[in-house]
Order: sequence, then structure tokens, then C-alpha cells
Amino acid sequence: MDWDDYELMTRAVRAGQTRTEEGEHSEPIFTTSSFVFKNAAEAADRFVNNAPGNIYSRFTNPTVRMFEQRLAALEGGEMCIATASGMGAILTLCLGLLKAGDQVLASRSLFGSTVTLFSGILGRFGVRTDFVELRAIDAWEQAMTPQTRLLFVETPSNPLMELVDIAQLADLAKSKGCLLAVDNCFCTPALQQPLSLGADIVVHSATKYLDGQGRCVGGALVGAAQWLKGEVYGVMRSGGASMSPFNAWIFLKGLETLSLRMQAHCDHASQLARWLAQHPAVERVYYPGLADHPQHALAARQQRGFGGIVSFEVRGDRAQAWQVIDSTRLLSITANLGDTKTTITHPATTTHGRLSPEQRQRAGISERLIRISVGLEAIGDIQADLARGLDGIV
Ligand SMILES: *Cc1c(COP(=O)(O)O)cnc(C)c1O
Repeated sequence: MDWDDYELMTRAVRAGQTRTEEGEHSEPIFTTSSFVFKNAAEAADRFVNNAPGNIYSRFTNPTVRMFEQRLAALEGGEMCIATASGMGAILTLCLGLLKAGDQVLASRSLFGSTVTLFSGILGRFGVRTDFVELRAIDAWEQAMTPQTRLLFVETPSNPLMELVDIAQLADLAKSKGCLLAVDNCFCTPALQQPLSLGADIVVHSATKYLDGQGRCVGGALVGAAQWLKGEVYGVMRSGGASMSPFNAWIFLKGLETLSLRMQAHCDHASQLARWLAQHPAVERVYYPGLADHPQHALAARQQRGFGGIVSFEVRGDRAQAWQVIDSTRLLSITANLGDTKTTITHPATTTHGRLSPEQRQRAGISERLIRISVGLEAIGDIQADLARGLDGIV
């Protein structure tokens, strides 16, 4: 099937499915570690890659492949590799593409484990990472050296919802002969397709919106076979960060409702952002859908929606922020995001707690900042739950 002819919502439901002789309508879960061969010669052919077909579920599995092909169709990528987690995807990518002596340039506001992986772990293997301010294209250019091999960004960023112009950064990467990887966790392909804007590789934590209901941990890489088929797939196969067939099935079914869920998340988040912006206990709201967001125009151009994450600063300090969090009865106090259930987080003491106070200040993450991943509960109930704490501040 050539999925280019079909719209995103159709691909989300249909792409990647292969049926067995049983004629099942829904995609089956192949819980098998290995596969059998008709005879010794077929086994030998498969092992030297002369014949297509499954060998072992660390290498390929039919349910995992269905998820990979569906996500590839959604991102508009030639190839997808599913992994055990989002971090497993980033590690697999780096081990496949980089070698000692290479330099990575990454945006400063990244998911905490991604920072640890780049600066703490890969540093020990001779791969150096420098961190750059996400929005400033000229800062990226200045930080480049002849050793720069990979640019890595999250856009919008966590938790302050800053963006980078993907097409501009992709042009810069191309002109210098390096690759651009975009962690598309916050937008998902329902809202943003980085490959169509010139990025080389899309990284996913499937744990977030692709599942959408907080059930499984998983990840994926999407891009041209030129980058993923050789070394990167080899690292997945021999390094072993493979996705389980059960998790692949959960994500496969999650993709079917992705567009609808993302529309609802965007709708709820923009209502909540507007409501927070007019609340007297709120000092500042960070949401690209608000007209006063400094990159509102870029977000409107680059994304099909403004996303489901809203951050805001309360008037006061840590005590007031914690009071708002602790006054909730409905919202879940957890650092996870991208769930049907609304979650509330204090970044300074959780997701960004391991940064030094100076690093946090430089990243703009204050003690009065709260991040909300807006879920699918009725928006009035979410607002009432937050009003309990906020009304006590003014
Ligand atoms: C959660 C997350 C990751 C890591 O994904 P895991 O599935 O937890 O390994 C990477 N990037 C972003 C933006 C995330 O939110």
C-alpha cells in the first residue's frame, strides 16, 4: 500500500496491518520469542539475510512491525525502529550514528534523562555534547565544529514550551553535513511532522501520547533507511533495546485514536491556558496557543495544533506552587505526561530537580512554575480542581 495517498487519520487506523490466514479483523499479538523454518536451508538463508522473514523477536516481530509501519506512515518516514523505551530509542540512535571524537549539539531544555545520557554516559565513550539555546539559530551555527555530527532538539520544549524553526535548523544541519534529530514527543505526528520540514530522524517516547493512556513504556525512531537501516538497526538487534509485542499492540491501538485525542488535548489545553491567564493568582502562562507567546506565529505555522501541555507561574514562590498542587483532588501529582488523565508537576523539584539552581535559573525554571499535562476530563472539573489552590493565594 502507498499510504501517501491517504490522509493522516486513515493511516492511523489502517497503515501497517497485515492479516494472517485466519482473517482476523483486529491486529493480533504475536507472543513468540522465535520463529520456525521449513528446513535447514531456509534457516541458513534467513540468518545470512538472503531471505526475508522472522528469526527471533529481538530482531523482528509481526506485531512490532505493524506498529513500526503505522508510525512510519504517520510521520511520513521510510523506516521505523521500535524500541523498549524513548531513552532506548535515543541510545540506539547515538550508538548507531556516533563514534568517539564526534560532537553532539543538543538544545538546553531537554528531558532530564536525555541530558544524563548525552553528558553523563556518552561522554565516557568520547562523544562530547554541547548545549545550545533552542530558539537561537545563530547560536547553533556558532557552536558547530568540524566534529559536529548530530543536532538534537525537542520542540516544543519541556516545560516552557519554547520552539525552534525546524526547517531553518534542518537547512543549517544540511549545509554543515550533520544530521538533525527531533524528539516529537510533545506534538506527535498528529500535530507536527518534522521529516516533512527537513529533519532527518524523528525520536519518540511512545510512553506518552502514542499510548495516550499511561499503560506501557516504549519508543521509536523514524527516518530514511539511509540512516536507520544499517548501523542503527544493527545496534537495536545486537544491543537488545527491542519493543515487546504486547507493548507494540497497545501503541498500535493507541495510534488509531491519536488524532482525535490530540485535538481534544489541544482544545482542553487552550481553554485552560486562557482561563489561567486571567486568574489573579497566576503571574504568567506558557502556552504557544496564546497570542502573547513569543513564538505563537511559528507554532501556528509549524504545528497543526498547540499541544496539550500548559505551564504557568503562580504569584509567590515554592510554597504557593506546592499549595496549588496539594489542593487538587482530581489531578494526578506525577511527572508523567500525555495521558487521558490530567497530571500536575512541580518541575523545579522533580523533572528538573537534579539541575543546579544556576542551571535551573538559566533554563527559566522557577520555584513557582507548575506544569500541567491537560487530559480529557471535563475542562470545568479541571479548572475547579486548580481554582481550589489558586483562589487561596489571592
Ligand atoms: C519521556 C520522554 C522521553 C523518554 O521516554 P521513555 O519512554 O520514558 O524512555 C524522551 N523525551 C521526552 C520529551 C519525554 O517526555
